[in-house]
Formats: sequence, C-alpha cells, structure tokens
Amino acid sequence: MFIDTHTQLNFSDFDTDREMVIGNAKKAGVKQFVVPGVDHNSCRTALHLASVHPGVIFAGVGYHPYEAPHNPDISYLESLLTDEQNKKLIVAIGECGLDYHEYKGEVAAGRKDVQHRLLEEQLKLALTHNLPVILHCRDAFEDLFTILHTVPNIPRGVLHCFSGGLQDLRSSQELGFYVGIDGNVTYSKQLAMIVPHIPLSMLVLETDAPYLTPVPHRGERNEPKYIPLIAQKLAELQQKPVQEIMEATTTNAKALFGI
Ligand SMILES: [Zn+2]
Repeated sequence: MFIDTHTQLNFSDFDTDREMVIGNAKKAGVKQFVVPGVDHNSCRTALHLASVHPGVIFAGVGYHPYEAPHNPDISYLESLLTDEQNKKLIVAIGECGLDYHEYKGEVAAGRKDVQHRLLEEQLKLALTHNLPVILHCRDAFEDLFTILHTVPNIPRGVLHCFSGGLQDLRSSQELGFYVGIDGNVTYSKQLAMIVPHIPLSMLVLETDAPYLTPVPHRGERNEPKYIPLIAQKLAELQQKPVQEIMEATTTNAKALFGI
C-alpha cells in the first residue's frame, strides 16, 4: 500500500466528488492520507474528514506562510490541539514554513520577519505537543535552516514538495528530516537531478492534490490516485524496483506521522 502524505482533500476542489476521489485512490493502492491545514477553515475541514474516515485520513493543523500577512490566531491551533476529541486525528503541525517567492516583484507571503515569527510559533507548538512539522519552503532554505537551529529543540518533520538543491538536501538529512516528492518529479529537470541523491530512508510520497498533477495528466486536477505514477518515476530515477520504493516510503510515512 501507498500513503499520500500531503493531499488537500480539504480544499473546495473536491467538494462535489470527495468520496469518489478517496475510493478511486484506495483502488489504486493509496490507502491512507495526510491532509494538512493551511488556514482556519482548512484545518477544521481536515479534522472533520479525519473524524469521518478514522484510520484512513489524518489531519495536520497549521498556517501556511500565505497566512502570515493576515495575522492568524495561534491560540486557535492550540485549542484544536488540546481538544481531547482531536488527539487521535491530528498527526502533524502544518503546513507551515517560509515562502519568498515573488509575484509581480513582491513576496506574495509578505514580510519575512512576520513569516519567521509565524513559523517559530508553530515549531514551538510541534515541540510542546510532540508532533512532526510539515514544512513548506520556497526560495527560503537558508532562513529556514537558520530558524530551525534557533528553536530550543528541532522537531521531527518533512520538507514537503522538496525543491532544494544538493546542499539543502544534506542540511535536511543532518536534521533528520524527510523529504516529500510530488508529481512534478515526472517533468522537473531539477528534481530529476536531485532525486538519485535522496536516501530511500528519507523519502515520502505526496501528491499535493489538487496541484502538481503528474505526467500524463497535466492540466487536469490532481488526485491521490496518481501516487503510483510518482513512485514509478522515483523507481526509474533511483534505479530500484517500484516495490522497494513503495515499501520504504510507506514505512517512512508511518514512522514520521506515527500512523
Ligand atoms: Zn506547500
């Protein structure tokens, strides 16, 4: 079986056919799903989905860096984490992180210092609640690693949708982080270069559905049922049997999220 460790089944893109999407994924061998929150509402939806699909869907609660300019309420995440009913449903803090990507000459996620504070607060939550972090990082690896070294302890976690270079991969390895690989591995030249260097013990699979649809479905909505296409491409790039990729990534995902 496969686990999709990062899928946004909580987004409205799936409002009309969510149950069918989950069913089709299961038919394709994708049996468990981690659904991260990015803001207040998507955290609630992730928790709702986890509660109606126990043992199948697991929730992350967190604020994406895009939320930084809106000053999101950390105490809300805390209230979710301390609610007894949610304890079995929440397996991670996230997604959170840094995004310095520029759009029309401006950092879309806003001021860096505000992003830093939001990330630090969520790293502390992860430590307090002994949960892994799902980290989003775009064009900001240097600052991300600096911040990880300033918190009292480094939580365990995953660099979701890994987009770094070889040095960033080494830094992630030193911190004991996993890296999540998505459907863009089927067409990204950068990833084709990096993936052969990723130790199998660090790899987890994710779709980031509805985004990052793999070849040959680009242009369509992405779905967790495409996880085997990502595994197939990884097997090619790592020159290993796909069975080995499946077993290792599933073992890693279970260890990371405690599922
Ligand atoms: Zn992300």
